[in-house]
Amino acid sequence: MMDAGSIWAADALLPGGWARDVALAWDAQGRLARVEPGVAPAPGQARAAGPLVPGMPNLHSHAFQRGFCGLTEYRAQADDSFWSWRELMYRCAGRLDPRQAEAIAAWLYVEMLEAGYTSVCEFHYLHHDPQGRPYADAPEMALAILRAAERAGIGLTLLPVLYQAGGFGGAAPHAGQRRFLHDTPAMLRLLEDLKPRCEAQGARLGLAPHSLRAVPPQALREALAGLDALDATAPIHIHVAEQVKEVEDCIAWSGLPPVRWLLEHAPVGPRWCLVHATHMTPDEALDAARAGAVAGLCPTTEANLGDGLFDMPHWRDGGGAWGIGSDSHSTVNAAEELQLLEYGLRLATRQRNVMAEPGQPHVATAMTLAAVAGGARAGGRPVAGLAAGQQADFLELDPAHVALAGLPACDMLSAHVFGSHRTSAIRTVWVGGQARVREGRHALRETAAAAFVEVRRMLVAGA
Ligand SMILES: [Zn+2]
Repeated sequence: MMDAGSIWAADALLPGGWARDVALAWDAQGRLARVEPGVAPAPGQARAAGPLVPGMPNLHSHAFQRGFCGLTEYRAQADDSFWSWRELMYRCAGRLDPRQAEAIAAWLYVEMLEAGYTSVCEFHYLHHDPQGRPYADAPEMALAILRAAERAGIGLTLLPVLYQAGGFGGAAPHAGQRRFLHDTPAMLRLLEDLKPRCEAQGARLGLAPHSLRAVPPQALREALAGLDALDATAPIHIHVAEQVKEVEDCIAWSGLPPVRWLLEHAPVGPRWCLVHATHMTPDEALDAARAGAVAGLCPTTEANLGDGLFDMPHWRDGGGAWGIGSDSHSTVNAAEELQLLEYGLRLATRQRNVMAEPGQPHVATAMTLAAVAGGARAGGRPVAGLAAGQQADFLELDPAHVALAGLPACDMLSAHVFGSHRTSAIRTVWVGGQARVREGRHALRETAAAAFVEVRRMLVAGA
């Protein structure tokens, strides 16, 4: 079979670590057909100028939230918290129409690609019109996300969100949540409707029960059974234990903290991504990690919202998988998420190089490999790095960037994560073998940015 494309690199980060003189070749579907270290470049074969690194899956995104970044960074009340931020977020969410949602998402996905993310799990809960009525074509808002991803050329796992209650025990939802709501049969119809549309563009469809406070137990059981009937391997994502108040409310409701409740009442396993899971007891962390769930960590959003620090020591003791997401998109930069995750652990443990692994002392390399593997599992797509059978999703670091120039490849990745500051050291980004970013810039950068700024102008004017 003919290769659709190929490239040779002096250095490439493979799942087992750095390799020299590596040739990559991919097929017409954008899947890697061969990854061969220790070979000379073929005559006429394209050569990478810098080291090749696997593209990072972004395992948690609410695209529309990019539209109000910068607008919530002021004190509105003495005890500003996640919960007061959420009120502002609801006001923004209440106004967007499908065209505006697509413009925000398209720009966000351009930013993601330029910042090293090659696929995204979209935790999508803005379903209905601003009055809470279904659109004439019910999946209209989801289709806006699919179009945005296709235009930008980013891989997508679409996770329609099931949202039914305003709090534990089936509390009535309030007006700010009316765009999010589905009964269970309506959600299952939405999934059925979306499945062929996702498959047509290579996207994966999963389900996101929003949280235990928003989804009562019976609805959770029935929705998961319906999902299994549609696709028994589809990804399942849930927000869990992000806030102390949520843990306290869950204990008051059920006698158990949320991660323990889930472990006892749901088939938590490798299909599951536990988003945040910030506040767990050590036993919850060990048991959830051993069950095979992926921890969906969003370090810059968790810092922005004042959530707390994830219990990585116990998670790793349980052999837990993890990946990173940009969630509210206060930061859209895979390297900064890794940096902040490591720095949080350094501050908490008063040690350095906490995320190094026994066989991989270089922190940026160890974290990149772990987050790519965990993110791929969470997204349910073959994006687990530079290996045959995986998507040809990868980036080329810029060997001319001042922070990287002249360093060995492994240290270039360290400088990219820890020393490139707010400039980008990414030169080229391929998704499914197609170069979407060249010389650090996406082809849609200008038009997508202009459309985004125009939508935000309208949002601010309507505030
Ligand atoms: Zn979230």
